[in-house]
Amino acid sequence: MKIGVMGGTFDPIHNGHLVTSEEARYQFELEKVIFIPSARPPHKREVRRSPFEDRYRMVELALEGNPFLSVSMLEMEREGLSYTIDTLRELHRIHGRDAELFFITGADAILEILTWKDPAEIFAESQLIAATRPGYPLERLKEALPEYNSHGEPSTGRVHAMEIPSLSISSTDIRERVREGKPFRYLVPEPVWAYIVENSFYLER
Ligand code: ATP
Ligand code: MG
Repeated sequence: MKIGVMGGTFDPIHNGHLVTSEEARYQFELEKVIFIPSARPPHKREVRRSPFEDRYRMVELALEGNPFLSVSMLEMEREGLSYTIDTLRELHRIHGRDAELFFITGADAILEILTWKDPAEIFAESQLIAATRPGYPLERLKEALPEYNSHGEPSTGRVHAMEIPSLSISSTDIRERVREGKPFRYLVPEPVWAYIVENSFYLER
């Protein structure tokens, strides 16, 4: 079984995330993609985040109607900081060692992964899919990768660049737009837009 894993803060989830996951599912013939909102992201400790429950709810609303996409509480249920390596190991425990995991990221996050906990282990537990994202060239990727993962396989073979119809949408930009009263309605799925408006999210930061 090939399973896609989409990690992120999703504050809020937007159409860039959805296009990326759907494109990965199609291009890599994944059975499903699981969205895993980060509960306590180690690299965003200083950043103010919306409560987990709201970020989770917005993901749920965004995925409604697509049977191939689901959301998981895995990182909320675990204590402490949300390390990706722990999540990948847990997914292997749940779905079995034979499950092939594909961790899906944008071109910006893939370069950051090398600064995360146990990158060689991450490359052993899962293959990585890096989606093109405007402003983040993928050229540096190959030189930056660890040579081998902890199974002794070349890490480069575990990373796949994926062309997607590029969208320069980001959660940071959406939060700014809300604060400044600029339009953001069509950057997110309709129910997410409604949830943000109804709950007056992102008006002050
Ligand atoms: P923020 O601006 O708060 O960092 P973000 O838009 O980058 O938000 P994240 O929750 O940080 O969203 O991203 C989760 C994952 O989705 C990351 O791997 C990120 O690279 C990827 N991603 C986000 N937006 C896009 C996009 N427009 N195109 C491709 N990948 C994206
Ligand atoms: Mg980001």
